[in-house]
Amino acid sequence: MKRFIYADNSATTQPSEHVIESMMPYLREFYGNPSSLYSISEATKTAVENARAQTAAALGAEAKEIFFTSGGSESDNWAIKGAARQAAKKGKKHIISTAFEHHAVLHTLESLKKEGFEVTLLDVHSDGLVRVDELEAAIREDTALVTVMYANNEIGTVQPIAEIGEICKKHGVLFHTDAVQAVGNLHIDVKAQNIDMLSLSAHKFHGPKGVGALYIRKGVRINNLVDGGAQENGRRAGTENVASIVGLGTAITDAVAAIDEKTEKLTAMRDRLIDGALTIERSRLNGDRVKRLPGNVNISFEGIEGESLLLWLDQKGICASSGSACTTASLDPSHVLLSIGLPHAVAHGSLRLSLGDNNTMEDVDYILSVLPGIVKMLRDMSPLWEEIIKEENK
Ligand SMILES: *Cc1c(COP(=O)(O)O)cnc(C)c1O
Repeated sequence: MKRFIYADNSATTQPSEHVIESMMPYLREFYGNPSSLYSISEATKTAVENARAQTAAALGAEAKEIFFTSGGSESDNWAIKGAARQAAKKGKKHIISTAFEHHAVLHTLESLKKEGFEVTLLDVHSDGLVRVDELEAAIREDTALVTVMYANNEIGTVQPIAEIGEICKKHGVLFHTDAVQAVGNLHIDVKAQNIDMLSLSAHKFHGPKGVGALYIRKGVRINNLVDGGAQENGRRAGTENVASIVGLGTAITDAVAAIDEKTEKLTAMRDRLIDGALTIERSRLNGDRVKRLPGNVNISFEGIEGESLLLWLDQKGICASSGSACTTASLDPSHVLLSIGLPHAVAHGSLRLSLGDNNTMEDVDYILSVLPGIVKMLRDMSPLWEEIIKEENK
């Protein structure tokens, strides 16, 4: 029997039954506009506020500090553009970030450069980690914002967020983190970690797509991104996506309650997968082995194309990714793999398997039972591999 294994949980996750059930009443009966005054609207308004309280509780924030958005990309755009344009009024036009952020951050920074902002991108070194001393050295008088992702979406490396928060606080610089991959996987406490703004997205932790949130610490002023009505306390216009916001609230509550149990389960599966895959000759693990998301495996196999590997894995019922899903339409290897110093040819042969709530150890064993054969078959027909072997035998 052909198996089906979804191992692309960093791209998106399957919404849980509990999440879907919690959303249904807000698609069927309770369709009132939360801003209206009749009683069916009272229910939707209460549901949105309940989800806001759930989201705040999951992050150690206050409900007033949570603003719902259309997802991770919007939250990143809002935090960065909003903070930058606000700081520009005081003549601060310098932003610090890293070379391996998600495109929602990197492309936002590119667009701000056209508005006259200056951007410093920190090196993430070969282990996929920023160095806090280098970050501190990059801070200037006119630095408006530091934005560093919590955990990388391709190689899973987890950044020293609390230390970065400490440094930003010491220098009086705003600190934003794209925590889209971290929420639901790692314990987050925005107060203890001195995080001023944090982006999250529901579909990365078994919630629905097209809904997210931005945490903005009380007292932090940033410009609005979406102008219009007075929703979200006058800071983000548009009739609330009620059912999805309810789904986000359910998903984040469930995910955070299960973090410890999930970490233990996923780490064991991840490590077995890494050890097994690394027995294939001329393979390497990308990103620090320990400071990485519990479900992330990212391995390069020399002499093959990641895309072909994905097609063959798909034939065996396995969904995986090669680099970021957003970059698969492009011919260049992922900017993340290049940022940790991989040569183009090696970066091209990379495979990301991201495990989630629905995976089991049997899935891992099945993947390991088919992967070596596929790699060998692809190498047998690869001119690149022939070159590598010739070079080796010289
Ligand atoms: C998925 C992702 C995003 C984008 O979130 P969307 O909700 O899909 O817009 C941003 N940053 C990171 C790190 C991500 O993994």
